[in-house]
Amino acid sequence: MKHVTVIGAGLAGSEAAWQLAQRGVQVTLREMKPEKKTPAHVTEYFAELCCSNSLRANGLENAVGLLKEELRRLDSLIIRCADATAVPAGGALAVDRHGFARMVTEAINRHPNITVVPGEVTEIPDGEVVIASGPLTSDALADKLVKLFGQEENTTLNFFDAAAPLVTFESVDMDSAYFASRYDKGTPDYINCPLSEEEYKAFWTELISAQEAEVHGFDDGGVFEGCMPVEVMARRGEDTLRFGPLKPRGLPDPKTGKEPYAVVQLRKDNADGSIYNLVGFQTHLKWPEQKRVFTMIPALKNAQFLRYGVMHRNTYLDSPRLLDRYYRLKSDPRISFAGQMTGVEGYVESCASGFLVGIETARRLAGQQPLNFPQETAIGALGLYVSNSSVGVFQPMNINFGIIPPLGYKVKGKRNKNAELSRRSLEIIEEMKENILSDCVEKESL
Ligand SMILES: Cc1cc2nc3c(=O)[nH]c(=O)nc-3n(C[C@H](O)[C@H](O)[C@H](O)COP(=O)(O)OP(=O)(O)OC[C@H]3O[C@@H](n4cnc5c(N)ncnc54)[C@H](O)[C@@H]3O)c2cc1C
Repeated sequence: MKHVTVIGAGLAGSEAAWQLAQRGVQVTLREMKPEKKTPAHVTEYFAELCCSNSLRANGLENAVGLLKEELRRLDSLIIRCADATAVPAGGALAVDRHGFARMVTEAINRHPNITVVPGEVTEIPDGEVVIASGPLTSDALADKLVKLFGQEENTTLNFFDAAAPLVTFESVDMDSAYFASRYDKGTPDYINCPLSEEEYKAFWTELISAQEAEVHGFDDGGVFEGCMPVEVMARRGEDTLRFGPLKPRGLPDPKTGKEPYAVVQLRKDNADGSIYNLVGFQTHLKWPEQKRVFTMIPALKNAQFLRYGVMHRNTYLDSPRLLDRYYRLKSDPRISFAGQMTGVEGYVESCASGFLVGIETARRLAGQQPLNFPQETAIGALGLYVSNSSVGVFQPMNINFGIIPPLGYKVKGKRNKNAELSRRSLEIIEEMKENILSDCVEKESL
């Protein structure tokens, strides 16, 4: 009997378990929730989104849009559930976070080939294993991993990640805010909170000097650019935020017809629109300071905070030294890793690595040749980047067109070039699709 233990039922572990199970492999899925939770996970559901509810851009001129489309065409569980629980978010795929996680959990629990075993894993099990315990892997398991790698220097690294606050819709002062999407693209899904020059300057002055929560080992240098706390970004200069998350371009205030000096955007966080998150406001300020400074934004003067921003350790491996293109441990190939701990960064990227591990492991156990996703595909490019031993200092990586080979011919304009790269990739995916889907012996649907 073919059997695999998957550790962690996050984005990566759920996808890996599902793909294995669909291919007839018996899966034991071990998840420490609800008995024990990481500092960022709060529900009992699998595939919990611990910060933003957005799986980022959907368009094919965007690399994360391409990655999602590849996964969609190849029947990814995570993308299917995300599409089914989407909430309006302009050109992005954002989801009702609870609806999404509940749907993944129910699908996993129903699958005849998956046995869920709750409880923290503190030893690496025998047999085939996929370790997908995420950036907040529990200490006991993290210690075992360090031992597994022989305590070599640089085998496990940390950086820090931050989450943005959530507010209730009813507490937003809509007399001081307006619905719009940038440049009127798509539906007007965002709440825009304008600031005048005077209001912005007062807000910025308080933000850069507000009190931060103590996080052991954190300094401004140890932060991932894509998830930078708003106060760290603000300290780079008075106008930095106005060219970043508070950019007013394409968001004229209907009251004046003019673009405000700065705009804070709020994005729907659940399907019924009762909760909104502050876009780009990941932070590690002390909670009373978050309330004091963020309520200086006129539309948020009475904001009710459902969750304050938090900052956490983020563990990932020095994968170029440790893993092969299938995210498998070179020194012990029965063990694969998936998700954020491999150094892929983000929800969709974590799902993509779990997807690749699931289908390639199932093929290996069935004695089939590997699929070897080429670098021209976003799924393949990620695995090849993470395992590329020529990468020196390894940093977590979002999917981007820079890790996909160029076209070899000229296309005018960046958007057109990116769309052409996506077209090329999806042609390859279409050629591989029949082979990939025909491996599925179970036809479990949602
Ligand atoms: C605070 C924070 C905010 C983030 N915000 C964003 C964001 O806005 N957008 C984004 O794209 N990405 C964000 N990320 C990155 C995010 O973690 C990943 O994109 C994604 O959740 C990683 O998926 P994963 O499956 O690797 O890990 P997770 O989704 O974290 O899943 C790991 C699972 O393993 C379980 N587990 C841990 N240790 C054990 C153990 N010993 N035994 C059994 N189970 C265990 C955990 O309970 C968890 O369910 C954030 C990360 C953090 C820490």
